[in-house]
Amino acid sequence: MKLSDNKLGGAFTVEQNRRRYILLFVSYITSAIMLVLGIRHFLSEDSALQFILFGCSAAFVFNALWFHRSNQLERACLIEATLVASFVVGLVYHGGFEQTALYWVFPFPPIIFGLLGARRGIVINLLLVFALFLVLHGPNVGQAVYRDAESSRFIASLLTLIIASLINEHFRERSHHSMDMLQRTKAHEANTDALTQLANRRFVDQELPQYLNDQPELFFPMTLVLADLDHFKHINDSFGHPEGDNVLRQIAALFRRKLRSPDIACRIGGEEFLLILPKTSLADAVKVADKIRATIAQQRFIPAHSDLVITCSFGVVEIGTESDFAKGLQQADTLLYQAKAEGRNLVRS
Ligand code: GH3
Ligand code: MG
Ligand code: MG
Repeated sequence: MKLSDNKLGGAFTVEQNRRRYILLFVSYITSAIMLVLGIRHFLSEDSALQFILFGCSAAFVFNALWFHRSNQLERACLIEATLVASFVVGLVYHGGFEQTALYWVFPFPPIIFGLLGARRGIVINLLLVFALFLVLHGPNVGQAVYRDAESSRFIASLLTLIIASLINEHFRERSHHSMDMLQRTKAHEANTDALTQLANRRFVDQELPQYLNDQPELFFPMTLVLADLDHFKHINDSFGHPEGDNVLRQIAALFRRKLRSPDIACRIGGEEFLLILPKTSLADAVKVADKIRATIAQQRFIPAHSDLVITCSFGVVEIGTESDFAKGLQQADTLLYQAKAEGRNLVRS
């Protein structure tokens, strides 16, 4: 299990929420403005303009409703950006009320970047500029005619806006990415033991309960294996603390080697480890623990002292629900001390 997978549910990330709000803002607010303008000019009997305003307004609302149902953010944003670009081209083609269409273009390039991000945003925006250039400077196919000076200034200022928005979006994405990486690294470090790189006590106390509650079917029945190295103080006293640390690192590597990928090995105390075995019966877990016990007893951890035998004692408990966790850990502790009392290098369940 990856410790950085901090959310198992389907909640939106901050970045997704940002795009969701832009999508809903454009859908509802912009379409309301279009609706109001469409109604205001109802009496002008300009049916083409009303078609553009009412049609786009309805399309935006439909896209938002579809998004609420499907939750497909990527696709909804792409559809929205295409609708926005089509609306802009349609409006400029028509000319708008009293030839004011060009003024209404400027809010939309930043919105397209907001919906699609820098890379896809620049593609749609450049296509939009190209289409507008054709409408303004291409052959006359029935579109509105603007003053020459107005058209050329419009394209220049639109391009300036698009480049400024691109720079803005690019650096926003970069800083968001670095913050995200930093946050993930911090969350990972907070749950990881620095010496052994195993999960730490904080993970067991604060993160694990959430995983167990969110998706119990992935974990239960689950077995807890509590392991404590025997006479470890003696190792430190005889060979020094750094050599003791070295042994702890090798023990951690051994756990990682012996466990399956859904299992979680944690260092919860100085020389005390908790092995969490999801979907594992007590009998199977006892076999696993005994294999690990035998491997530790056989391994030579300090090459310079090839006759030194290090052993480990184990307490094994099966639990059925998250609420049994604390009690299960206590029972495992009792069984571990039973193993110690009965001579160490033993598995008790
Ligand atoms: P027992 O068989 O009863 O478990 O005996 P023990 O000596 O292992 O148990 P005890 O709890 O008395 O001592 C644990 C020792 O583990 C004490 C401490 O020196 C050592 N220890 C704890 N944390 C670390 C660590 O991070 N590095 C090293 N090198 N030693 C540690
Ligand atoms: Mg010990
Ligand atoms: Mg101990």
